Amino acid sequence: MTQTRKAVALISGGLDSMLATKVILEQGIHVEGINFYTGFCVEGHTHAIRKKDKQKPKRNNALWTAEQLGIKLHIIDIVEEYKDVLLHPKHGYGANLNPCLDCKIFMVDKAKQWAEEHGFDFIITGEVIGQRPMSQRKETMPVIAEESGANDRLLRPLCALNLPETLPEREGWVDRSKLHGFSGRSRKPQIALANQYGFEDFAQPAGGCCFLTDPNYAKKLGDMWQHQGNKNYELDDIMLLKVGRHVRPNDRFKLIVGREEGENNFLSGYRKQFTYLKVKDVAGPLVLLDGNPNEEDIELAARITGRFSQGKKADSLNVSVTKPGQDEFIINTKPMGPSEIPEEWYV
Ligand code: SF4
Repeated sequence: MTQTRKAVALISGGLDSMLATKVILEQGIHVEGINFYTGFCVEGHTHAIRKKDKQKPKRNNALWTAEQLGIKLHIIDIVEEYKDVLLHPKHGYGANLNPCLDCKIFMVDKAKQWAEEHGFDFIITGEVIGQRPMSQRKETMPVIAEESGANDRLLRPLCALNLPETLPEREGWVDRSKLHGFSGRSRKPQIALANQYGFEDFAQPAGGCCFLTDPNYAKKLGDMWQHQGNKNYELDDIMLLKVGRHVRPNDRFKLIVGREEGENNFLSGYRKQFTYLKVKDVAGPLVLLDGNPNEEDIELAARITGRFSQGKKADSLNVSVTKPGQDEFIINTKPMGPSEIPEEWYV
């Protein structure tokens, strides 16, 4: 009796890993997925917070993909281990703070370890040569295979025909003639294959799979590191960088201003850890204050809080300020005018 071979697929929640997995499932291989949670993932989280995105389905795309494919998905939290990848990338960063090549090597390595522990034969990814400038180039494909230690147990079904044969092909577990030779940045071959399989409503994240490729996010992360004097971070820190308008009037403090109801609700979960401000009597944002402000800074923070409220044109407003573990106090102040907030304060 022929043995059913098993593959583990890296599932990002995007179309490519979905197609790569389907191609292998079609060959009778048993496939299970792994999704690595770094804390910087785009999908699900932000859409779940922001009310304005409420028409978008609030789903975890990796889970949704697995459901569409009918495979088991293992979500693995790598938040702690990922810090070393982000802070010390051997191959450097892409256009922003994205250590894509080191990230891929790390994830394939983790998947390889998982495969060994669970009796799986090979690893598949949705990589396509030339699709992404940093990690998906012809020269980087062997680097990922070698440095992860996966070597020829790493199969990329969407571009396999442009690469040397891998173990699953040589051993006949997978029929190479049924794999693909996609390359380049065009998404047309993937869309055509998705249509062929009848996939609809798949996720096509514009900026890649994580916030580290987003220039605005990278700027906020860089600002946080600069002001705290080191590159440490906790999950809460990187979550808060995804939310609200960030305003830094000076080196002593920064404000995180909720932009809508969903963000205000999310930020209110941090009221015990941060000083927070809110206008009284009229609608306005919840504002978290991060840093070590002096008395003048608190007054300035109250004026900025007023600026983003419904009372922004009033001559004066009552703004409540609550420090962690203390009772609120009220500052009566004039909201700042829009032109009084310099552009460089916006992180
Ligand atoms: S975009 Fe983010 S998750 Fe994707 S490879 Fe780059 S660093 Fe890793």
